[in-house]
Amino acid sequence: MKKIILFTSNTCPHCNTAKTYLRENDISFEEKNISSDLLARRELINRGIKGVPTFIIGDEVVVGFDADKIKKLLDYIITDCSQCNTKLRIPKGKGKITVSCPNCKSEFKTTT
Ligand SMILES: [Zn+2]
Repeated sequence: MKKIILFTSNTCPHCNTAKTYLRENDISFEEKNISSDLLARRELINRGIKGVPTFIIGDEVVVGFDADKIKKLLDYIITDCSQCNTKLRIPKGKGKITVSCPNCKSEFKTTT
């Protein structure tokens, strides 16, 4: 799975929106707060990025919160188990696969 880094600052409302979105979709990420983390701030400046929230997804950089773009760049999709609504991560691009839910053990077929 690709690693996701989210650059945030204390004064940015969109950063909270972005974090809420990631948490609600059960997407794991590492947060780097440029208000309190000097190294994070320097890293962002070195990359030539001037705004937050900024997402680093694998090798891709997304400046600003764009849910569609983020979903596209992830190498997995999040889907709800049809039986118990547990959120499941399914790798992209595997064709038709059978997914088994770790929570309720039910299996279903899906196209990735
Ligand atoms: Zn389930």
